[in-house]
Amino acid sequence: MTNLWSDEEAKSFEGDLGLRVYTSNLLGRSDRLVLHGGGNTSVKSKVDGEDILFVKGSGWDLVSIKAEGFAPVKLDVLKKMATYESLSDSDMVKEQKEAMIDKEAPNPSVEAILHAILPFKFVDHTHADAVVTISNSKNGEKLIKDLYPNFLIIPYVMPGFILAQNIYEMSKDLDWNKCEGIILHNHGIFTFDDDGKTSYDKMIEAVQRAEKFLDEQAELNLEEITPKEFDVETLQAKISKAKGFDVAVKVNKSQLALNYASCSNLAQCATRGVLTPEHIIRTKRVPLIVENDIDSALKKFIADYESYFKKYAQEEIMLNPAPNYAVIKGFGVVSFGKNEKEAGIIDDVISHTMEAVLRADRLGGYKSISEADSFEMEYWELEQAKLKKA
Ligand SMILES: [Zn+2]
Repeated sequence: MTNLWSDEEAKSFEGDLGLRVYTSNLLGRSDRLVLHGGGNTSVKSKVDGEDILFVKGSGWDLVSIKAEGFAPVKLDVLKKMATYESLSDSDMVKEQKEAMIDKEAPNPSVEAILHAILPFKFVDHTHADAVVTISNSKNGEKLIKDLYPNFLIIPYVMPGFILAQNIYEMSKDLDWNKCEGIILHNHGIFTFDDDGKTSYDKMIEAVQRAEKFLDEQAELNLEEITPKEFDVETLQAKISKAKGFDVAVKVNKSQLALNYASCSNLAQCATRGVLTPEHIIRTKRVPLIVENDIDSALKKFIADYESYFKKYAQEEIMLNPAPNYAVIKGFGVVSFGKNEKEAGIIDDVISHTMEAVLRADRLGGYKSISEADSFEMEYWELEQAKLKKA
């Protein structure tokens, strides 16, 4: 992980928000920190004498975010929300919107309250591969504690209000000046500072620490494998039929994908869950596993998905039960999207997941969030609300 800061480049960004845009773009330039809309950043500033949190708006990517991509929200309102006993995420979004000083701005990130309660001007949040790889390993709790002795470490909870509330409670007696950052288990990392460059520097340094550890303890040793023959067109036709629309595919026969798809017990190795919770919206929790016959594999996938839904659902609307990607024994990985762009995004997410899984296996085994937590994320009321509207 390279620190991309350049004094020359930084000169063209002015003021608090300018600097915030610049270091957000720097974070976004590394796909090992954030992928496709992942991560979020903020800066606390003043507008007409009032304290305002400028926080990443939804729908923006850090790599290309501009000043207008940040939602300006009244800081005191957000801080007060952290003290509520309970709050649904839909109500949280509503209250956050009402506290915006520019109604044309995008919706604030669901982590806005968390950004607000961290007592530093700049806050950076990423889903750094190296950090989540270590966290998602069987000894993750101990390894993270040893690597980050001066960080606040939070066991997994759902993003949104509950996460902010948790950190608010856990940090009441914390000396923030001795806290170097926050690790959210199975999710990601926060760094912060009153100086924008330092907050970014801290993120890079923390991630370098995790990368160094992985290079020493969990090197990725890929075997050279020749892919076997596989009829992608037939698979594409069957998936299109199951989904109810024509899917675009992205085929991945890289050595990473081949090694991943060559595990002797594929149905177990390749179904161990997402790298960071929000990926589930794109990939579902598990892929279609094809070892022999496509039809029987697909039938089993859909039946399993329906029973997973029934097991946890209360009033939710079931999403399309067909798979979003397939792992094909000895061949590689095929991602399915509404269009090429979406298939490509899924392939990117899976590529990062595969590397994490293979490395975490070298640390004793990969272990993501539970099935119940996965369901809660996949069927998050905020995502469901969009469906119900549609
Ligand atoms: Zn996150």
